[in-house]
Amino acid sequence: MVEKKNISISIDGPSASGKSTIAKILAKRLGYIYIDTGAMYRAFTLACLNNDINCEDEKASCSLIGKIEIGFNDLNHVTLNGIDVENEIRKNNVADNVSYIASYKDIRLDLVNQQRKLAENNNVIMDGRDIGTYVLPNANVKIFQIADVKERARRRYLENLEKGIQTTYEECLANLEKRDYIDSHRSFSPLKPAIDSIEINTTNLGINEVSNMIIALLKERGIVTKNEQ
Ligand code: C5P
Repeated sequence: MVEKKNISISIDGPSASGKSTIAKILAKRLGYIYIDTGAMYRAFTLACLNNDINCEDEKASCSLIGKIEIGFNDLNHVTLNGIDVENEIRKNNVADNVSYIASYKDIRLDLVNQQRKLAENNNVIMDGRDIGTYVLPNANVKIFQIADVKERARRRYLENLEKGIQTTYEECLANLEKRDYIDSHRSFSPLKPAIDSIEINTTNLGINEVSNMIIALLKERGIVTKNEQ
């Protein structure tokens, strides 16, 4: 019997463009594993903050490589040294610092290594900034998801309200603009669409519309059959 190769789908794009919402829905519909790579950079950032490390200090931040353990538990929540930190990593202090941490090459290489291992033996949907360009350059389908920054700030503000995280709309907008800038201007593995990616602008699209568009694409490419959706 010919063994079926693992399928990988990458969803990249700027912060709060709806990547994780769509990736979670697709993973559930298809029975794939969802890997939130942003959560891994956030967990690293939390580790620095917990150790009183200034995240703008590259050397000090990189000193934690190999000393902390980042993973996912049965709930698919990110863990730091075995502890579920899914709620903590969404807080403002982490959001304000994560793009510095994500710009350090050594930290990226460490986390990318883990991300590739997770994709080795599973069908995966991975979301992030550099999945289609760097982490999984052979992904079967590459999506680049964008949305107007004001709409993204509105979504993030509402999400924060729901989670009980205190922020204003203006703070969300400023944080997204700052992260967009740092993420797309860093020298190693910046945020940019892979040449073979498909862009989806979600500004005026609902969650179902976007996930159905991607499923249609997967069917078109023979990656999923009617029975698998
Ligand atoms: O996706 P999320 O907004 O949680 O990601 C948090 C931050 O992690 C991003 O702003 C970016 O700086 C970084 N990141 C990255 N590469 C990825 C995923 C996230 O640089 N693959």
